[in-house]
Amino acid sequence: MMNIVFLGPPGAGKGTQSTRLVEKYGICQLSTGDMLRAAVKAGTPVGLKAKAVMEAGELVSDEIVIGIVSDRIEEPDCSKGFILDGFPRTLKQAEALDERLAEKNMTLTAVIELVVDEDRLLSRIEKRAAEAAAAGDPVRKDDTPQAFKERMEAYRAQTAPLSAYYSRTGRLNTVDGMKSIEAVASEIDEILVAGT
Ligand code: AMP
Repeated sequence: MMNIVFLGPPGAGKGTQSTRLVEKYGICQLSTGDMLRAAVKAGTPVGLKAKAVMEAGELVSDEIVIGIVSDRIEEPDCSKGFILDGFPRTLKQAEALDERLAEKNMTLTAVIELVVDEDRLLSRIEKRAAEAAAAGDPVRKDDTPQAFKERMEAYRAQTAPLSAYYSRTGRLNTVDGMKSIEAVASEIDEILVAGT
């Protein structure tokens, strides 16, 4: 199995790199952000709880996201492995993930952090919003400068400490996320070849 965790702030390129790996390895991509946006759209109980929190750029509760991820990694499309994109985002989520995987006799193949220059992230997010609008796709309500600021704060306070958590346990790989999509992709491939 190929089980990957992507770490990195909003706009770092986690989604872009995940999509490529899904095709390459036939594994599933679990983006908690996408799953939550689908729940909001469908108006499920989880969606109703998450909507305002997401629009403000804050984090949804650990219980909710841990629940949705644990259920999803059991699905048949994840039988070859999974990529977690946007999860874990807190220490509690990272610990819960390790516990759930241990119960299932599974481990993480690689934890990959995309390291980026924060000053350039806002322009990437603005580009994403402009591209979505041009393609006629819905623009994310949290791709605004104000919500982005909140998302960066949540990242710094709650998610950035995960690098140390994975580094302590010898599982952290870092990649320079400011390089081109292709260059980042080939560095990731090297890490995965070494890890399997
Ligand atoms: P993303 O698409 O990963 O940028 O996530 C969009 C929003 O969904 C975040 O700003 C949070 O409000 C929420 N969210 C996504 N993943 C998580 C998570 N693992 N823990 C808490 N909230 C999350």
